[in-house]
Amino acid sequence: MSRFAAVRFSHFLPSLLLLGGGMLLASLSALSEFFTSLFNVLPTLLLLLGGAFCLVYGRQRELFLLLVLYSGYFLLDIQVDHFREKAQVRADAALVFHLCSLLLPLFYGLYAAWQERTHLLQDLVARAAVLLAVGAVALGLARRFPEALLQWLAQVRWPALQLEGLSLVQLAYPVFLLGFVLLLVQYLRAPRPLHAAQLLGLCGLLWMLPQTFILPHALHVMSSQIMLMLVVAVAHEAYQMAFRDELTGLPGRRALNERLQRLGRNYVIAMADVDHFKKFNDSHGHDVGDQVLRLVASQLRKIGGGGKAYRYGGEEFTLVFPGKSVEECIPHLEQVREAIEHYRLQLRDKQQRPRDDKQGRQRRAGAAATQVSVTISMGVAERSAEHGSPEQVIKAADQALYGAKSAGRNCIRSHGQRRGAVKLARARG
Ligand code: GH3
Ligand code: MG
Ligand code: MG
Repeated sequence: MSRFAAVRFSHFLPSLLLLGGGMLLASLSALSEFFTSLFNVLPTLLLLLGGAFCLVYGRQRELFLLLVLYSGYFLLDIQVDHFREKAQVRADAALVFHLCSLLLPLFYGLYAAWQERTHLLQDLVARAAVLLAVGAVALGLARRFPEALLQWLAQVRWPALQLEGLSLVQLAYPVFLLGFVLLLVQYLRAPRPLHAAQLLGLCGLLWMLPQTFILPHALHVMSSQIMLMLVVAVAHEAYQMAFRDELTGLPGRRALNERLQRLGRNYVIAMADVDHFKKFNDSHGHDVGDQVLRLVASQLRKIGGGGKAYRYGGEEFTLVFPGKSVEECIPHLEQVREAIEHYRLQLRDKQQRPRDDKQGRQRRAGAAATQVSVTISMGVAERSAEHGSPEQVIKAADQALYGAKSAGRNCIRSHGQRRGAVKLARARG
């Protein structure tokens, strides 16, 4: 699987598992006492814990999604409880159910697609105002004109589309469809775990609503699972923020520090640094510099020999090889060094971009696109009696890197190696 597909898949996997697990559990006619009690408290627990987390960390969007889901769950739970105890539905069951079928996807889609603004308080107030205003109008209408509202909701507007399996009010389906398209576009434009969870959460709602009175545990289980999907996505993103470097997508310094704690007795650490990067930045601009860092990272990520690449900071990267010796690692390091040296990067400088297609075609037909390339230098060291801790090995690799820079750059040197040995070896090879 390509890295691109693997990343997309990782966005959907937790939500898919929760959705599938929820549908399976909800389909069972009887749940054990443990699961019944668990799903009875889970929505409230998720609202309190997840909601508090979102509030503290300014994640308004997820906070309101949790609130909307919980409100729907709360209103429908009263109906389901009554139905289970008395074996008949409450007088207002149809009205509440149809209203929820329409308003749940409407609010869910709205809040999920509503991007956070920079001003947190304004954002919070605006979202709360919409929820309160629409909620108050719906409640007011339901109290004053219950019959008329029910009739309006249940009206079959498009008889040709009134198919057998569609058991919600007709109006709900265009709202679900619109929400689905919006959230799909949102995911494609900004692929991240939360957007994937929001999309699958809407699918979960569409599955849950028609089953509310049919399957005894559908409401509790699915409400819990959809809320859990959102909370898990928030945690997933928080983890990524802490451990992944945003620019290159490589694991960052914190992830490296964690890895260093768990290294065994033998390992090799290589430090890689882009050559003359400051000059490169100065002549091509910071944006192109960033593109180069992404390119270098994408090549380092492919390192063989069981190595793993991390962004150490700035234009420096660290490669960790557990259970290896320096001799075993050098060929793999040489391979990526060469790959970076031979890679030609087409400049995608925004300022140089043509304003329209015609201009672009003319320009492409004329002058050749600007190509640039960079090189990296590396220093390698392994754990030894002299360098017993990962910090000492990093320091030794850093010293070797310094040696590689002095030896003329675009080469690899290992700690304690005679000057130019690898360069010579390369020239001979
Ligand atoms: P040397 O060959 O000796 O390593 O020279 P150098 O110019 O690469 O070394 P130096 O450490 O002086 O320069 C590093 C530069 O990297 C300075 C800084 O502007 C740039 N840099 C650090 N982080 C980033 C980043 O995230 N993006 C971009 N575009 N530049 C960065
Ligand atoms: Mg540097
Ligand atoms: Mg450098």
